[in-house]
Amino acid sequence: AKIAGRNTLRIFEPGMQVSLNARVSMEESLVMAIESNQLELHYQPQISDVNSVIGAEALVRWNDPKSGAIPPSVFIPIAEETGLIIPLGQWVLEAACAQIARWENDPVMSHLVIAVNVSVRQFHQDDFVEQVKLTLARTGARADKLKLELTESILISNAADLQDKMNTLKALGVSFALDDFGTGYSALAYLKLLPLDQLKIDRSFVRDILIDPNDYAIAKMVVALAESMGLSVIAEGVETEEQRHVLAGIGCHSYQGYLFSGPIPEDVFKKMMGQLGKI
Ligand code: C2E
Ligand code: CA
Ligand code: CA
Ligand code: CA
Repeated sequence: AKIAGRNTLRIFEPGMQVSLNARVSMEESLVMAIESNQLELHYQPQISDVNSVIGAEALVRWNDPKSGAIPPSVFIPIAEETGLIIPLGQWVLEAACAQIARWENDPVMSHLVIAVNVSVRQFHQDDFVEQVKLTLARTGARADKLKLELTESILISNAADLQDKMNTLKALGVSFALDDFGTGYSALAYLKLLPLDQLKIDRSFVRDILIDPNDYAIAKMVVALAESMGLSVIAEGVETEEQRHVLAGIGCHSYQGYLFSGPIPEDVFKKMMGQLGKI
């Protein structure tokens, strides 16, 4: 058993070492990336029933000179653990607000509301509200063009702080969507205390909505809940016309997903909008 144990140790040790090294070097590269503008925002259109583009979700992209494109599913969790999500989140907020301000003078783009993902850790920074205010002022972005996407896990945090911050930002004109709704801990009673504007039906419920009655039931429940609370609702991960049709059938009339477009750079977005603002 001892020998097996030692063998096991020898087998796993090098691997663990490599992965730790990889993490540390990724952390260092990410610090560099934030400081030296290797990050970029892509925008995924959000579509209304009549195919007009009503907004976009800003999604961060990282092109590392050595490793190429690193997906957010890899570096966001590391950024969360290391606290780098704070400067990263601030970079994203700044870039999105600068984009809002540039599009403000463009008749084809000026109506778009830009949704920015905010991590729970970022939101609970003491100076978060102040940072948002400063960023809006510095960039000249209109607050009513900025939507903050909070994940459901925000609901288990300090209620007073959460309400306080949301109300202050709401008073400035900023709006709020609750992201990945239904995937985690839903403190339903708590929802009505918050100045939310929108629930996002998670991609995991949309994916099998045609074949899984449970997913269909959950999506339907989210739409009904949103409606009864006076919130709008948007479905993410819409990939097929059939999914869109079923969603429309349960009363969901805003969509985001590959059926319309993946996340794209600002110039591609602008070209796509053409003269009509339709897809
Ligand atoms: P999310 O907030 O749920 O973002 C939606 C993700 O779904 C994006 O992945 C998007 O590219 C992908 N997606 C969009 N439409 C479809 C579709 O039709 N089918 C499928 N299968 N996927 C679709 P992405 O860009 O890789 O981002 C992954 C996650 O990383 C995001 O999930 C979000 O949690 C996080 N993230 C991205 N950018 C930021 C950011 O700036 N700040 C923070 N805190 N998190 C971010
Ligand atoms: Ca999101
Ligand atoms: Ca989401
Ligand atoms: Ca999701």
